[in-house]
Amino acid sequence: MSYILALDQGTTSSRAIIFNHDATILAVSQQEIPMSYPRPGWVEQDGCTIFDTQVHVAREAIKRAGITAADIQALGITNQRETTLVWDRFTGKPIYPAIVWQDRRTAEQCKIMQQQGLEALFHERTGLLLDPYFSATKLAWILDTLPGARIRAEKGELLFGTVDSWLLWKLTGGRCHQTDLTNASRTLLCNIHLGCWDTELLEIFKIPQAMLPRIVDSQGLFGMTSPEFFSRNLPIMAMIGDQQAALFGQGCTEPGASKNTYGTGCFMLTHTGQTAVQSKNRLLTTVALKSQGIVHYALEGSVFVAGSAIQWLRDGLGILSSSDDAEPVARSVEDTNGVIVVPAFTGLGAPHWDPYAQGAITGISRDTSAAHIVRATLESIALQTVDLVRAMEQDTGSPLSLLRVDGGASKNNLLLEMQANFLAIPVIRARLTETTALGAALLAGQASGYWGATNMLPFADSDGDVFTPTGDQRQTQARFEQWRLAVKRVMLHT
Ligand code: ADP
Repeated sequence: MSYILALDQGTTSSRAIIFNHDATILAVSQQEIPMSYPRPGWVEQDGCTIFDTQVHVAREAIKRAGITAADIQALGITNQRETTLVWDRFTGKPIYPAIVWQDRRTAEQCKIMQQQGLEALFHERTGLLLDPYFSATKLAWILDTLPGARIRAEKGELLFGTVDSWLLWKLTGGRCHQTDLTNASRTLLCNIHLGCWDTELLEIFKIPQAMLPRIVDSQGLFGMTSPEFFSRNLPIMAMIGDQQAALFGQGCTEPGASKNTYGTGCFMLTHTGQTAVQSKNRLLTTVALKSQGIVHYALEGSVFVAGSAIQWLRDGLGILSSSDDAEPVARSVEDTNGVIVVPAFTGLGAPHWDPYAQGAITGISRDTSAAHIVRATLESIALQTVDLVRAMEQDTGSPLSLLRVDGGASKNNLLLEMQANFLAIPVIRARLTETTALGAALLAGQASGYWGATNMLPFADSDGDVFTPTGDQRQTQARFEQWRLAVKRVMLHT
C-alpha cells in the first residue's frame, strides 16, 4: 500500500493530510499558527514557525496513519497565497517576518501608483489590481526598508518567495527555488499571458531578477525532501495556491464551474478554460492551473475577512469560546435585531477594493446582545459572498444556478442556510470539506502515476449536503439593501 501526503499551509494553520487510493483521508494533523498585528493594518507571521509547524504536522500525520515515510508515494504542497518572504540564501533565515496577504501597510504606495495611471498596465499584464493584497508592494517594502536589502538581493544573497517557494526551498535543503504559475500569478509581477516574470513590472518596483524563484508548472517533480525531515526522501510532485487547489479538488475543471471557499477569507473562483477573461466588475483574472505546459485560467473574487471574523469574536471580543460555538450562539436569537457587521478589518477586497475601509457595527440598540453580534458577523460572511456572486454573474453573463462550497467555516450550517437564502440558489457543501488538500493530493498523485490521468476526477468530491433557499425573498432583499448601505458607510473616508 502507498499513500499521498498533502501539505496544506493555510493562514490559520498548517495541516498535513494523508490520502489513500480512494482519495479518502487516512490521517490529519493540524497546528494553528500565531498571527501578529504590530501596527494597525499590519499582519505578520513568523516564517520559521510556518515551516516548522508544517514539518511537525507532516510527521505527526504519518505517525497517526500508522505508516512510515516509505509508504508515501508523493507529496503535494498547497498554501496561503501572496504572503511574502525574503530570506538569506546562506543562513536559510528570513530577514523579516512573513508579510501576510491581509497586510495593508503598502496602501499609500498603491494609491500613488494608481494616481500615476499604472493600474491599467498591471491589470492587463497580471489580471490583478493595484492593492496591497498582492506580493509585489510587500516585497518592495522589505527591500526599501531593511538597510542593504536591495543590494544583497541584486547580488543574489537574498531570495524572495511566497509560502510555496519557502516550503519547497526549505524542504529540499535549499536546492530548489521555484514557484508554480498559480502562486506566481498572485504576485503582481507575473505576466499571466506569457507565464513569466514581467521585466517592465519588475523595473517599476526595482525588484532584482536574481532573487526570484523560477516559474514552473503546478505538477511535476519539484525536488526531493532532504534526509533530515522524513525517514525517506519524498518526491514533491505538485505545488499550487490554496484557492486553485480547492477549485481542482471540487472538480471544477471546465469553463463555468465555480466554488466558494470559506476560510480565513472567502474566495470564489470560476474556471474560464484556456481563456484569461478580463473582469469588468473588479474581479481578478488568475491562473487556475498550469499542467503539461497548458495554462488554465479563472476569475476570482477575494474577500479578506470571513472565518477570521469568527476568530475575532473568539479572541478579540471574547464572546465565543470556540469557532464552533458561532452556530449555536447565533441560533439562540431569531435574527440580528437590526445589527449589521461590516468586517472590513483589513480594508475591503472584491469588488470594492478599498484598503482604507475600516470595520463597523451598525444598528446597535440597548437590547443588542452578544448573540446578535455573532449572528450578524456570520451573516456578513454570506453577504460579502453575495457581492462576489453578483459581480461574477455580470462578468460571465450567466446567472449562477448553484454554489459549491468548502473551507473551515463551511461546516457552519447556519452560514450556508443564510447563503442559500441570500442567493436564492442551492448551496452544496463538498462532503470532504478539505478540498484544498484534496486538490494538491490529486495533482501530486496524478503526476506520480498513483492515479491515472483520467480516472481521478470522480474523487473530486462534490455531492455533499445541499442547502436550499427557504426564506422570504422580500425580507432577504431588504436586508441586502441595508448591508449595501453599511458597506458604503465604511468606504466614506477621505
Ligand atoms: P485557512 O485555510 O484560511 O487557514 P480554514 O479553511 O482552515 O482557513 O478555516 C479556518 C477558519 O474557519 C477560521 O477563521 C475559523 O474561525 C473558521 N471556522 C472554523 N469553524 C467554524 C464554524 N463552526 N463556524 C464559523 N467559522 C468557523
